[in-house]
Amino acid sequence: MSKSEDIKALYKASVMPTYSPEIAIAEGQGCKVKNPEGSTFYDFTSGIGVHNAGHCHPKVVRAIQAQAAKLTHCSNLFMNAPQAQLARKLVSLAGFKGGKAFFCNSGAEANEAAIKLARRRGSASGRYEVVTMRNSFHGRTLATVAATGQSWCQEGYDPLPVGFRYADFNDLESVRAAVTDKTAAVMLEAVQGEGGVNPAAPEFLEGVRALCDEKDILMICDEVQCGMGRTGKWFGWQHSKAAPDLVTMAKALADGVPAGALVANAKCADVFAKGSHASTFGGNPLACAAALAVISVIEEEKLLDAARVNGDILRGALEGFVEKYDKVLEVRGLGMMLGMAVDDSAAEIADLFRDFGLLVCTAGAHVVRFLPPLNLKESELEEALEMMTDALEERYGGGDGE
Ligand SMILES: *Cc1c(COP(=O)(O)O)cnc(C)c1O
Repeated sequence: MSKSEDIKALYKASVMPTYSPEIAIAEGQGCKVKNPEGSTFYDFTSGIGVHNAGHCHPKVVRAIQAQAAKLTHCSNLFMNAPQAQLARKLVSLAGFKGGKAFFCNSGAEANEAAIKLARRRGSASGRYEVVTMRNSFHGRTLATVAATGQSWCQEGYDPLPVGFRYADFNDLESVRAAVTDKTAAVMLEAVQGEGGVNPAAPEFLEGVRALCDEKDILMICDEVQCGMGRTGKWFGWQHSKAAPDLVTMAKALADGVPAGALVANAKCADVFAKGSHASTFGGNPLACAAALAVISVIEEEKLLDAARVNGDILRGALEGFVEKYDKVLEVRGLGMMLGMAVDDSAAEIADLFRDFGLLVCTAGAHVVRFLPPLNLKESELEEALEMMTDALEERYGGGDGE
């Protein structure tokens, strides 16, 4: 079972068709992955924003191996040291003095926990609504698809949980208009990922913060995609002067060992009480040891700086494509979370890039999304940029804007 063809046949026959992958990946190292036949690709998807420190970083691998040999899981009926250490570390990275963490296994679950916490806090005063943004993405559980302000992922799932109202991203007046006397929280991404790589304006985040203070409601930042250093700061909101009450994280948290977390500031640290929320796997020692190793790699290897430096180089190159080709419209994003808006099919461009050896994501029909490992070498970045240059030259030809 090592040939791509065999994997594809078995996959198509046996795995539900919620995705439509074209290639299989057998191994990864740093910013590169190999298919079963040994062909190498530059991975600018990072497993959709998971491998911020690259695939199989030796320090993370060692931490996972050591913890796997010692204790992978013990349930939350018992304490484990990595969980307590990770909680303290995440609280400190968020700057939430006196805050606390709850652990789960994915982004959707982390958001579900945030929504539950906001409702529980609001229940005494009849507040349960959560205002979310149009074009947002918060996950695929029933509550989080209801929170997601995009109809394509809600179709066929009626009736959806009630209690969500939508506002326009980067439009404070629209958020204000959506807040009622039933509102418990406002939830948003500091950089919308799936919705097209749209950064929140710092003034917008600061305005939402002030509005939440005025109404005594919670501000929730979904940092599942833009957190853990992706934008050049630990969390996307840190590009503004605002700070949320609750932050959710997952994707890059534990380098691919499934892990999610909800981190609350001191005001919300004890809203959940014994028995009010739970997870069997959440915060298990394997995931927490992986997360602690990822965080120390990001710190020791200065990957926040790397995200800014490499992000500037990548952005510069993408801006060059905007100059050169009429079909390339705009570059958006922060750090190493960048989107290239095209007057073209983003999926076809992603396929074309793949043929040239570069894997990228899309974000909607017209945005090519780049989420490379933060720590790739300059030479690797240059080589990937050459692939893009050649691919776009083939598609648009001549640089005359055709
Ligand atoms: C991916 C993502 C989620 C969902 O995470 P899962 O781990 O797939 O459940 C939620 N919010 C944002 C911003 C995401 O990018």
